Amino acid sequence: MLTSEAVVLRTWPVHEADLIVSFFTRDYGRMRGVAKAALKSRKRFGGALEPMTLARAWFAERPRQELVRLDQLEILRSPLSAPVDHTRMAVLSFYAEVLDEALPERDPQDAVFRLLVSVLEQTSAVQSEPVQSEPTETAAAQPNANQPWMALTYFSLWMTRLMGLLPDTSRCMVCGEALHAAEVSYSSNSDGLLCGLHANGSASALSADSWQLGQRMLRAPASAFAAEPWPRKRGQDLRRFTLQTLERHLERKLKSAEALARLGG
Ligand SMILES: [Zn+2]
Repeated sequence: MLTSEAVVLRTWPVHEADLIVSFFTRDYGRMRGVAKAALKSRKRFGGALEPMTLARAWFAERPRQELVRLDQLEILRSPLSAPVDHTRMAVLSFYAEVLDEALPERDPQDAVFRLLVSVLEQTSAVQSEPVQSEPTETAAAQPNANQPWMALTYFSLWMTRLMGLLPDTSRCMVCGEALHAAEVSYSSNSDGLLCGLHANGSASALSADSWQLGQRMLRAPASAFAAEPWPRKRGQDLRRFTLQTLERHLERKLKSAEALARLGG
């Protein structure tokens, strides 16, 4: 029997009451297993099979089988513990889809696991933080302040970095010259950023704020950005840049990104 901290990525039914579970373990990487009778006996798994649940998992190899046998999950943090919110759910689906598509099977990725745990914390923290000292004003003045845009931006940027798809963001990919805020662009068909001279016809501008934000995010933990205001528009072009990079390398459009785009992300 093996055990590891793990995050459930997705599940799909098989046979009568079994579920196949794609889960990302800290110690063994992404795995797929069978949760026997998961649909019949709720007590063994409870709500732990909800995607983006952080849990301790117990599982075992099965002789001559590709899928492990998933025996038990003990919830450490559940996305269901915060009130249901469409934007937060869309963001969680995005994490799940990117990881399910991008992570190689049975290949431990400790840096990615730590990134995921930290953004999950930030994604739920923004929801569960009541504004107690200033009951009405703060929430009303920042209608988007409790949305998970910061965590989404941080995750997207760091996933491109950890997948090796984000070259030095301080230099032009073509000429290698140092970039200057307000003349930075990205192209839909190549990695990295471009200077004003090398921005081609298909290039989009990356705002000065987003460029600087990206560089700060690559140097500091996600929690360092939690106290800043996070309206929906903040870092939107940075998210588009990283999404384009991820989709180009995964060679497919991400369904959850379409849902996020409909929510204005
Ligand atoms: Zn250049």
